[in-house]
Amino acid sequence: MLLGPPGVGKGTQAVRLVDEMGAEHVSTGDLLRAARREGTELGQRAQRYMDKGELVPDSLILDLVREQLSEVAAATDVLFDGFPRTTAQATGLDVVLERVGRSVDTVVLFEAPEDTLVQRLSGRRSCPDCGAVFNTYFSPPDSEGVCDRCGGTLVQRVDDEAETVKRRLQVYLDQTAPLVSFYDAHGARMTRVAADRDVDDVFVDFAAAVGGGV
Ligand code: AMP
Repeated sequence: MLLGPPGVGKGTQAVRLVDEMGAEHVSTGDLLRAARREGTELGQRAQRYMDKGELVPDSLILDLVREQLSEVAAATDVLFDGFPRTTAQATGLDVVLERVGRSVDTVVLFEAPEDTLVQRLSGRRSCPDCGAVFNTYFSPPDSEGVCDRCGGTLVQRVDDEAETVKRRLQVYLDQTAPLVSFYDAHGARMTRVAADRDVDDVFVDFAAAVGGGV
């Protein structure tokens, strides 16, 4: 399980880990965005929370995760990314896992200073045509607003706008950060990783934390 504030780089590292080590990546943020693109009822219900930087209600998230897990073979490792985000989700997950004889064995907590998180989120721009991602602070495109790779027009996620970013960070502190003590008391192995470093260095520590050094 990968815990940490928005903008800390969980998604990037999770994709790399599942690519290199093989595991099922369960990102509730990605699942919700897919539901929105497909226009499902869940996607429509989630939209107003996501656009404001608020959390989607626990019951919707737990249904989504339950459904996702039912498609994963019992022997496959699962990497949760951006889930759980509340204590109610964490206790709900325990119930779901217990039913199938599984448990959370490793929690990795990514940490970075708040100003880095704000720049990573509010500077993020992506190309809707080819999927390339840029950052106006750290990796700007050659020409402002234009994709280097395909010439498409770059867009900003609604929830990466400055006011919403502030709200997402506050929601993390209020509702998700308490999970650190929840899992400390839970018996899961917890490793803290400083995530305001080069992506390759972060990945080495991340992979070591989940028991598969690179
Ligand atoms: P993310 O891409 O993980 O930052 O998620 C984007 C948005 O989706 C969040 O700001 C929430 O509105 C919603 N979301 C994602 N995962 C969860 C979750 N586990 N619980 C509640 N809301 C979530």
